[in-house]
Amino acid sequence: MVGGMESSSEGVARPGDEGGVVAEEVPGQVPGQADAPAVAREAVAREAVTEGVAAQEAVTQEAAVPGAAKPVVAIAPTSLSPSRAGDFMQCPLLYRFRVIDRLPEKPSPAATKGTLVHAVLERLFDAPAAERTAPRAKSLIPGQWDRLRESRPEVLELFADDPEGERLAGWLSEAEQLVERWFTLEDPTRLEPAERELFVETELESGLRLRGIIDRVDVAPTGEVRIVDYKTGKAPRAEYADGALFQMKFYALVVWRLKQVIPRRLQLVYLGSGDVLTYDPVPADLERVERKLLALWDAIRTATETGEWRPRPTKLCGWCDHQAHCPEFGGTPPPYPLTVRAAESEAGAQGRMGPD
Ligand code: SF4
Repeated sequence: MVGGMESSSEGVARPGDEGGVVAEEVPGQVPGQADAPAVAREAVAREAVTEGVAAQEAVTQEAAVPGAAKPVVAIAPTSLSPSRAGDFMQCPLLYRFRVIDRLPEKPSPAATKGTLVHAVLERLFDAPAAERTAPRAKSLIPGQWDRLRESRPEVLELFADDPEGERLAGWLSEAEQLVERWFTLEDPTRLEPAERELFVETELESGLRLRGIIDRVDVAPTGEVRIVDYKTGKAPRAEYADGALFQMKFYALVVWRLKQVIPRRLQLVYLGSGDVLTYDPVPADLERVERKLLALWDAIRTATETGEWRPRPTKLCGWCDHQAHCPEFGGTPPPYPLTVRAAESEAGAQGRMGPD
């Protein structure tokens, strides 16, 4: 039972350790970093919707950005999502390329597989509880792959050099394995999500808008909320768990501000390794995340206004699509498309923030 869960517990739970959240125990109730690059790319694709909303609301300026998708519109950021916050913490210049220049990125097999698996897990809940079986879930893969190809034709590039379809078959088989593994971690016949792929957005008192997409929200009859996110990669080592949980605490903060309810549990389901990472947040956790995000947003605003976006090279550069534009690799960024002011002396603010 939820009432028996300890506050602020944290750890990687093994299959079968569901933490006793009531939503699973009442069928039929409908209440109301090895894989970091793939995760980031997957998030870029899945958050394109929210970024599109931002674009409409942002101060925009037509810009000729070499290599960028057409039409090109430079955007002064107006909101923050977990992925974009993560981008800035990883490398301010990467944030600029993604958010302001909107440079195109190639689809990757891992990220596209993640998008496909997410779609399958979401759609499975359309079926009656008793029919949410592994064979049923796997049978959804071809149709969801068709839908993905229609909505994002660029993913066809992934298999352009695979005329016999051998690599595609192997890739689809890997997606099947991830879907199948989910059934060893959760039992969808005992779940009735309150929300799936939920777009959330809130504005903090400071004016900063936070937004994102939550994979699944479970609500117990008692009103306790569990936020669930699926990862198609492997669980991080313990020393990287804070980074993984940052995204979940971000969502918890948004839900808290929106609904005045702190989620009882945050749950990351790692399909790649068969692990479940859970965390039960307390107000101090989320207040700390809020302070962190405000500081991050200050740094982003300063960089936006001054045009000073520093590269921050790490091992993750190997997966960056923008080396050709990055000074660390001998490249030159496109002309900065926004109006700039003279930089002030807050030197060093960029790129020094950890996730939490
Ligand atoms: S290559 Fe590395 S330093 Fe350059 S923009 Fe990409 S992540 Fe940043």
